[in-house]
Amino acid sequence: MSAPNKTFDPVEVEALKPGEVERARDQALAAFAVAADLAALHEAKIAHAGDRSPLALANREIGALPPAAKAEAGKRVGQARAAVNAALASRQAELEAERDARVLVEESVDVTLPWDRAPRGARHPLTTLQERIADAFVAIGWEIAEGPEVESEWMNFDALNIPRDHPARTTQDTFFVETPGASEATDSLVLRTHTSPVQIRSLLTRELPVYVICPGRVFRSDALDATHTPVFGQIEGLAVDEGITMADLKGTLDHFATVMFGDGIDTRLRPSYFPFTEPSAEMDLRCFVCRGESVGNPDRPCRTCNSEGWIEWGGCGVVNPRVLLAVGVDPDRYSGFAFGMGLERTLMFRHSVADMHDIVEGDIRFTLPFGVEI
Ligand SMILES: [Zn+2]
Repeated sequence: MSAPNKTFDPVEVEALKPGEVERARDQALAAFAVAADLAALHEAKIAHAGDRSPLALANREIGALPPAAKAEAGKRVGQARAAVNAALASRQAELEAERDARVLVEESVDVTLPWDRAPRGARHPLTTLQERIADAFVAIGWEIAEGPEVESEWMNFDALNIPRDHPARTTQDTFFVETPGASEATDSLVLRTHTSPVQIRSLLTRELPVYVICPGRVFRSDALDATHTPVFGQIEGLAVDEGITMADLKGTLDHFATVMFGDGIDTRLRPSYFPFTEPSAEMDLRCFVCRGESVGNPDRPCRTCNSEGWIEWGGCGVVNPRVLLAVGVDPDRYSGFAFGMGLERTLMFRHSVADMHDIVEGDIRFTLPFGVEI
């Protein structure tokens, strides 16, 4: 900064010459205009509008001018600085808008892309169905009973009145477990062919009356096809109390069918034979698709029940007194009923699953539509 000088002519101060002020202003405006991004504009701002820029230095010179010259020089420099600051603010706004627009494009997220390459696992629909069935029975006061999947032959067959010469005991249907050192006379181990041994265990270990629902995995030497699998889920119910009759069985089954398939879906019993029940019955479910309206109505055929109005669901009956005797229950005082059905079959009915392969193969494209229930 020059020293005060009363006689100094303002045009003699180089930085304050009109041409110099205009040049500094025009250089600043040009530098802002070519700044391609905010960083370049920041550089230009320091060079042309900062404390050490030509116009800032010129402004300082004004103080040294004689009073008569101050106003004119101050006005010129002030206008130039105002123009520079306005151009800077305008370019700043332009570049910020450009940056914001670019960020919106470059950093946008495609919400339709797969969000997770390792999706969270969920339980299989068979498991959740099994628990729903168990819940329905717990709600009416029953208990859940479970047992081992490897059973003694006595539990799996003998106690259930299935004698040694019964076809179910041949290797055609049963997986026998090899036990080292076992002889013909000893009780072999098998992979349980039904959940009925859990009923035997319940009667042996629980106080009467017994009301249990027994869900679990069972094994038979079947090949896997559209309606069979060598490993499948079963759910059985057993009630042993005083004065139990077939009517109690029918009422329980109708309640179960309604819980599983909706209002108006009941069951029908057809005479059958099982060693462990007497009398025994096949249990049919009212067709939940046509509700029986396809029967005798050729205009509205039903593929689900072949227009018969009923579909087979499982087996049931009154507990054979010989089974009660085998576990030490007095058949003169107590009676009971039992029923059982396949879990896969129930899942197939309930959700229109056409092929057993879908249930056992574990493809999440099949399981996901059932919902991710943890
Ligand atoms: Zn039908």
